[in-house]
Amino acid sequence: MEKIVKILSIRNVTHDVRSYQIEKPAGYRFEPGQATEISINKGRWKEERRPFTFTSLNDWPYLEFTIKSYHDHDGVTNELSKLVPGDELILRDVWGAISYHGEGYFIAGGAGITPFIAIFRQLHKDGKVKGNQLYFSNKTSQDIILKEEFDGILGLHAHYILTREENPNYRKGPINKEFLLREIGDFSKPFYICGPDKMVNDITQLLTELGANPEALVFEK
Ligand SMILES: Cc1cc2nc3c(=O)[nH]c(=O)nc-3n(C[C@H](O)[C@H](O)[C@H](O)COP(=O)(O)OP(=O)(O)OC[C@H]3O[C@@H](n4cnc5c(N)ncnc54)[C@H](O)[C@@H]3O)c2cc1C
Repeated sequence: MEKIVKILSIRNVTHDVRSYQIEKPAGYRFEPGQATEISINKGRWKEERRPFTFTSLNDWPYLEFTIKSYHDHDGVTNELSKLVPGDELILRDVWGAISYHGEGYFIAGGAGITPFIAIFRQLHKDGKVKGNQLYFSNKTSQDIILKEEFDGILGLHAHYILTREENPNYRKGPINKEFLLREIGDFSKPFYICGPDKMVNDITQLLTELGANPEALVFEK
């Protein structure tokens, strides 16, 4: 399935992340955490497919993606950052990326938070957030995506970790074995991990050694 859809509006989320509100084709549905492949409907970009996660919910009248742009090379995310409302994207079929299967620990790095945006928005709407913890790691405080919204949804159960900034208001990373042993009360609960490949692989390995069975998604190199 390929559908050409228009961008309705664009919002700045951080210095390099924007959210795109997009026309929703009739009957288009997905589960929170699922993704699709997108292309820009323009010239050579039509053939360049990249995966992105829905951050809207099914009962919203439009689709939303929250996308970090890499300006250091001429790729799709850099090109996306130049688009304006009225420009078009090509949407494809929905496919599974990461799915909620019970109260547990969410560990995200940078733009790896996007599947958890949809999952937490849905849990919040359904009144089922309780029992979940979010650990959200970023290089600096400027990189944190939707902090106010996560604080509103999770309160003290939203934990922020910085790896490249000394800031008295935040914990300092990395998320290593000592960190996990200190923070995690129950390694038999579900773990959901999403972020850059090194972070995801390192944490998945540590958690497995500690007896957990994590669900992980690698997002970027
Ligand atoms: C299932 C899934 C869902 C995703 N959902 C989202 C989402 O909702 N939001 C989001 O922001 N991202 C998401 N991603 C990540 C997103 O798909 C990538 O960031 C995107 O494909 C990068 O496309 P690009 O053309 O800009 O970069 P590409 O050219 O495809 O490069 C891919 C990666 O390699 C690095 N890279 C490649 N070439 C260079 C170069 N010359 N110089 C420097 N770095 C380079 C970049 O860091 C980049 O991350 C998702 C990934 C997956 C697998």
